Amino acid sequence: MKQIVITSGKGGTGKTTVVSALARIVKSKILVDADVDAANLEIVTNPKLLGSEPYSEGLKAFIDTDKCIKCDICRQKCRFNAIIINDQGNYEVTDYSCEGCKVCELVCPVEAVSLNEFSSGLIKHSHTPFGNLWHGELFAGRDNSGKMVTHLRQKGKDEALDKKADWILIDGAPGIGCQVIASITGVDAAIAVAEPTLSAIHDMRRIIELTSNFKVPVGIVINKVDINPSLVLEIKDWARSMKLPILAEIPIDKRIVKFMIQRMSPIEIGDEFLTGLYESIWNNFLEIL
Ligand code: SF4
Ligand code: SF4
Repeated sequence: MKQIVITSGKGGTGKTTVVSALARIVKSKILVDADVDAANLEIVTNPKLLGSEPYSEGLKAFIDTDKCIKCDICRQKCRFNAIIINDQGNYEVTDYSCEGCKVCELVCPVEAVSLNEFSSGLIKHSHTPFGNLWHGELFAGRDNSGKMVTHLRQKGKDEALDKKADWILIDGAPGIGCQVIASITGVDAAIAVAEPTLSAIHDMRRIIELTSNFKVPVGIVINKVDINPSLVLEIKDWARSMKLPILAEIPIDKRIVKFMIQRMSPIEIGDEFLTGLYESIWNNFLEIL
């Protein structure tokens, strides 16, 4: 079983479009949507929820007002200004500011503070016509440190091993933050989706440099090649200098957007040429593994 991450330096390059097509092309796999800040793979894979479980990102402080003697020490020591005096004159933790550092618990002279796990989202498991999908949901305002990505990937890996699946396809988070590192760590290879714009090229280089640090083989898909042919050449020149293969060049096709809006992938368009392009991503990618 091999784990493949499809990633991009920035959002909006068409990464999930590529994943949605590969989901239809690659057999014997488990899908993982690691882009939990914009978990949209479910939109184009028509999932039926099999189950979900609460997800906790960490600890939050809670003050027991019956025990609190209002000494103010915790409020003064909290570096995140997470402790306030509420309208009733009681000390209270504002949970969106609390970082769970436990300082308030340590300094409280009467043990009025406790740290509790809090629910910050859901881990979801769904059946799709293209293989089971692990995807997450973060509640509004909750942090994404990469922990949820790691959790989803472990769930996907357990299921893949259990079902003897050949592949895990991971829709990776864009950028170079913690979630991206959590998406890339331990994968066997990566597909980087780029578009020919200055910002996308800049961000593609960053994500590929990051991926290289993990000694992960990478292939590049150039999406929306019609945007700027001269920048397509720039991507190709850079890829050549880095000895990275170009897996496919995908043109702009308004039908792709139309089908995605209807929760379908480019494969459902039924255009032989277009389907062939997406198939070539996978066929060329197999050669670099
Ligand atoms: S756990 Fe840390 S951040 Fe949260 S209220 Fe206590 S001191 Fe402040
Ligand atoms: S340190 Fe403890 S007793 Fe003092 S205000 Fe905070 S919770 Fe209340």
